[in-house]
Amino acid sequence: MLAYQITKWGEPLEEREVDTPAPQGTQVLLRVTASGICHSDIHLWDGYFDMGGDVKMRLEDRGMTLPFTMGHEILGEVVALGPDATGVEVGDKRIYFPWIGCGECKVCQRGEELLCPAPRTPGTRYAGGYAEYCIAQHSRYLVPFEGVEETHAATCACSGVTAYSALKKLKHLRAEEHLMIIGAGGVGLAGIGMAKAVVNAKLVVADIDPAKRAAALAAGADMVIDNGDASAVAELMESTGGGVHGVIDFVGAPASSGFAMQTLARGGTIVVVGLFGGAVPLPLATLPLKMMSIIGSYVGTLEEMHELMALVKAGKVKPVPTTPRPLSEAGDAIADLREGKTVGRYVLVN
Ligand SMILES: [Zn+2]
Ligand SMILES: [Zn+2]
Repeated sequence: MLAYQITKWGEPLEEREVDTPAPQGTQVLLRVTASGICHSDIHLWDGYFDMGGDVKMRLEDRGMTLPFTMGHEILGEVVALGPDATGVEVGDKRIYFPWIGCGECKVCQRGEELLCPAPRTPGTRYAGGYAEYCIAQHSRYLVPFEGVEETHAATCACSGVTAYSALKKLKHLRAEEHLMIIGAGGVGLAGIGMAKAVVNAKLVVADIDPAKRAAALAAGADMVIDNGDASAVAELMESTGGGVHGVIDFVGAPASSGFAMQTLARGGTIVVVGLFGGAVPLPLATLPLKMMSIIGSYVGTLEEMHELMALVKAGKVKPVPTTPRPLSEAGDAIADLREGKTVGRYVLVN
């Protein structure tokens, strides 16, 4: 089969002919028909995450070896089952939920696979969806999506469930309070498109790019603000009557988190989702004095994935704009994403 692989960190992906894997045990072989390109793939491609203060977390140090096939927003058709696989049949189409644990440790046994120290994520640990075929570890991770358009369904596996899980952490906001989403890129737009279905608050979207602010308004934001503007903090404090009560920072950069801290109302919560990287000075006294909570949210659970698909099927989630690209353009598409050439999401189709 063809796979589009990293062969050197940060260099163009290479089209390579590799063996089509044979499913073992409970594994299921999927013919990949849609595979979203996630912003985090750019960090994988570079081979490191920026931890701030010139500290880099290198993927080689956690055991990632090249050549490697990325892609964790995978949707495909079941073409073969391992000898112990049940629950799906050849011809079924499914989303492959990627955030899976080892299945054996304490947290996995408790059903909290997301906390597993040895995850088996396709596209970040195991061969992923930038290929003609992909192995799924077990049919329980294969999620039905009847009635949902394929490119949208694929993006639910990462950007969708990431946005949903972050929003759920702010479910306590009240109708008269403000929820601010910072960053209207792929995941941010997914969040904007489902915010009203999850959180009962007024929705403010902050982005420095006018095109993305326009996309945010089209996706359902009540108001938008240019957080790069020097008067943005004062303006937002004024228009919200004292700050926002919940923020989801889909960027995760010093500037976006700084903006969140400056505009947060007393008792507010900041949910950091974005992996842009860097570090911020945090005056510790502001935590008690403002009764501020800062929490991190990483992707979502299988249960949340099923909850999200129920909302999507009920028509309560505005689909993110997606641009299909042929699988053979995997390398060009991720390069275009790095250059910020798109609003929304590229999905490789085959
Ligand atoms: Zn992702
Ligand atoms: Zn585990």
